[in-house]
Amino acid sequence: MQHVSSDLRSVPPPEELSERLATALQETERLSAHEDRRVRQMAEVTVSLAQQAGEIVPQARARLALAWVIFENEPDEAAELIGEALRQATQAAHNGLVAYARCLLARLAVISGQTALLMERAGEALSAAEGAGVAEHLAHAHSLQSIAHILTGNYAQALLHLERAVGGLNPAWPPTLRAVLLADSGATMNEIGRPHDARRFLEDALRIAEQHGLRFSKIITQLNLGTTLLQLGEGEAGEAVLRSSLQDVRRGGDLRWEAYLLATLGERAVQLNQVQIGREQLQQALNLAQQQGDASLMATSHLQLSRACAALGQTQEAQQHLFAALMVAEQAGQQNPAAQAHAQLAQLYEAQRDFERALRHFRLHHDLILKLRTEEAQRRAQLMSLERELELSRQAAQVQLQLNAELEASNARLRQANDHALRQSDKLARIAHLDALTKVANRRRFMQVLSRHVQGARRRPQAFSIAVLDADHFKHVNDRFGHPIGDQVLRVLARLLVRLTRSGDMVARLGGEEFVILFPGLDRTQAHEVAERIREAVSTHRWTSVAAGLSVTISIGVAEASEACGKERLLALADERLYAAKQAGRNRVR
Ligand code: GH3
Ligand code: MG
Ligand code: MG
Repeated sequence: MQHVSSDLRSVPPPEELSERLATALQETERLSAHEDRRVRQMAEVTVSLAQQAGEIVPQARARLALAWVIFENEPDEAAELIGEALRQATQAAHNGLVAYARCLLARLAVISGQTALLMERAGEALSAAEGAGVAEHLAHAHSLQSIAHILTGNYAQALLHLERAVGGLNPAWPPTLRAVLLADSGATMNEIGRPHDARRFLEDALRIAEQHGLRFSKIITQLNLGTTLLQLGEGEAGEAVLRSSLQDVRRGGDLRWEAYLLATLGERAVQLNQVQIGREQLQQALNLAQQQGDASLMATSHLQLSRACAALGQTQEAQQHLFAALMVAEQAGQQNPAAQAHAQLAQLYEAQRDFERALRHFRLHHDLILKLRTEEAQRRAQLMSLERELELSRQAAQVQLQLNAELEASNARLRQANDHALRQSDKLARIAHLDALTKVANRRRFMQVLSRHVQGARRRPQAFSIAVLDADHFKHVNDRFGHPIGDQVLRVLARLLVRLTRSGDMVARLGGEEFVILFPGLDRTQAHEVAERIREAVSTHRWTSVAAGLSVTISIGVAEASEACGKERLLALADERLYAAKQAGRNRVR
């Protein structure tokens, strides 16, 4: 009873538990992203908190985070963790996690060099990633596919997947993933026979690994970069990279990589005639490879050791290494080291004048080489046609882009020209409708508008009136103040008329010092009233601000549309009344 209650007390309240779980998971994934080995402890805390909270997704995530860090060195434990995480992710129907777990499972097959298993798992990873639709898992899965195709000799497919893996590489993805994808690409390029491209990818990968302190990514990348540099003839640089990697590896006790590094460095030492040093390194590599059960490395180590022994005149040992290489290679189905072993055996027997055996091994070597070369040639042909296709489609895309850009540019030019033309015609239209001096409507425009009103009034009878205005004794204004002042008077008068009428009314200059106003909706009496107000306003305006001693009056004749039939008659009637106003003494409305 006591026990139960103390247990109950130790379980934190739900909110606190979920908060602690979130923090622990975050920390686990952070450590994992930095390939930090303390991730193990944090992952255990996370899993236990998640178990208390009864949540499976955080458990799966923590297990995958731990697996990512340990899978190179402890592949068996990693496999268990990933398997459990995959079960939980599937149970939770969390597609993204399923895809990630499947990628890691495929990566385990890369490490163990199990090609058939890799093909299967890379395929599963890709379909899971496609189902989840998460870009980074998709890239990861394509990268794994590319390795799988390299291992089965399908270079063309490898290249296609590689393009998809690194084509969409996103700086926002975790550095571990970016480094791994670039390192994969480097390895693929090396296999395809493009060491320059490989170097570029690997240097990028190395930069990311160093920048983020990614120990494992750095080691793998250095291993690949070192061999690439050796291939490119930059022996010293390559060796330096490999040596620095070897130091890192020894500090961390990563035996698998130590074996590879020793084999590569040993081979180089033998080539440089430092046979004794090389032999020691190769022997260490062989021992490690045997410990790890790495058949491929065992076979190549034996081959290199046999070279070293032959160089030291130890024919017996050289021969033994060749037989061992042959045995391991044949067991593991590796034709390349087998072919090399046969060639070296043929040479050894020839030196011993055992021509029968020499010939037999030479034939075996020849047969294998022929087979390998044929396969290689097929792969290259396949690759070349794919590269041509890719290049063609790239060119086509380029041309399309260029065409689109040109089309867009000419569209823009057309739009611009069109806008310009519109603005111009707008301007022309406005100019055509306006009186140049006073900027009110001109006679032409007034007659158009008047016609519309006359026709409209016929269809739907509605009163409207016009007033014709004429400046009184304008000749005197010109005579006394000069023509420019006369012009100014006309401008001011036009502005006054516009200001004194409503916005729906229309002011126009008929010509000379004669204006007309259209009053829609006003009958003769109403228009007369407005005209009277205008007359009054003009006569009381402070014309002295235009010229000292200046005064201006106007006479106005008003007519209503219903009094006349047709616009000409209406204008004539208004004119008659203007004349009458003049006759009656000017400065008045009729
Ligand atoms: P009233 O109309 O009162 O009978 O006398 P008036 O002096 O105004 O007579 P009339 O219509 O015969 O003269 C109009 C004068 O207006 C003639 C012309 O010199 C002047 N005029 C016409 N157009 C313009 C113009 O654009 N600018 C200037 N400054 N004067 C103009
Ligand atoms: Mg006049
Ligand atoms: Mg006149």
